[in-house]
Amino acid sequence: MAYEIKNAVKTAVKSAGRNAGINQEIEERENPRQKEQVCPICQGTGWVLEKTPRGPVAKRCKCFTEKQALLLLRQARIPKRYENCTLENYEVHHPSQGDALKIAKKFVKNYPAQEVGLLFIGPCGVGKTHLAVAVIRELIIKKGANCLFYDFRELIRDIQNSYTPDSEVSETDILEPVFNCEVLVLDELGAKRPTAWVEETIFYIINYRYNQKRVTIFTTNYLDVEEEPDHRESFYKKGEETLVDRIGVRLRSRLYEMCKVVNIAGEDYRKMAKQASYRF
Ligand SMILES: [Zn+2]
Repeated sequence: MAYEIKNAVKTAVKSAGRNAGINQEIEERENPRQKEQVCPICQGTGWVLEKTPRGPVAKRCKCFTEKQALLLLRQARIPKRYENCTLENYEVHHPSQGDALKIAKKFVKNYPAQEVGLLFIGPCGVGKTHLAVAVIRELIIKKGANCLFYDFRELIRDIQNSYTPDSEVSETDILEPVFNCEVLVLDELGAKRPTAWVEETIFYIINYRYNQKRVTIFTTNYLDVEEEPDHRESFYKKGEETLVDRIGVRLRSRLYEMCKVVNIAGEDYRKMAKQASYRF
């Protein structure tokens, strides 16, 4: 198993450089007319000259950055349910949510100058995924970062499915972007029962990103006992199981080395909103 993953990494690293060309091809195939429309600002060169006191400086044209952002957004696999999540429309109902929002904004502002990712811990419905998605949206639009969203269970399932003989995608197809994207969101960490295989696979992925100094944002609704005292335990639906139970000691300690831990508390706002909409 570990051997297979290592091979996948090797191929993934090799193929990473070829992506730009492939993406351009895909886009041209999807929007054949775009090739003919010439931007009136840059005449299709993608560059403009900006006047500065020290003379003209070449800058990327708006048309180039906009097209790039659209393409990156499409590749980021943000689920439909979360596609409109922004930092502006994140609702703060609890002081810890306000703190989390501040940290998320600072993260975007500092990127790519910081090497530490984020670990959002909190019960269901406090907006952990909303914040994680909002962060990568901003990074794509404002910084042109290549980001990817993956639900933890879905990632495990996709990797497992790639082993079946009739699978159309290889393990490398799945793992290449997971290993190499600039910012990865791994949502609902620990949401799947931790088999030895799952633990090994996820550790390998996360460790690889850590060694490459690539930033990862995690969300989890498992209480982290060592970090938080018991009085918050009632917030957590899983009760007795903790983050360590679900992902193992080794991975947990790696997470703490590579992430700033952001604890979020509060009521389940999806439930609250739903209740408020029922008028009797
Ligand atoms: Zn242009």
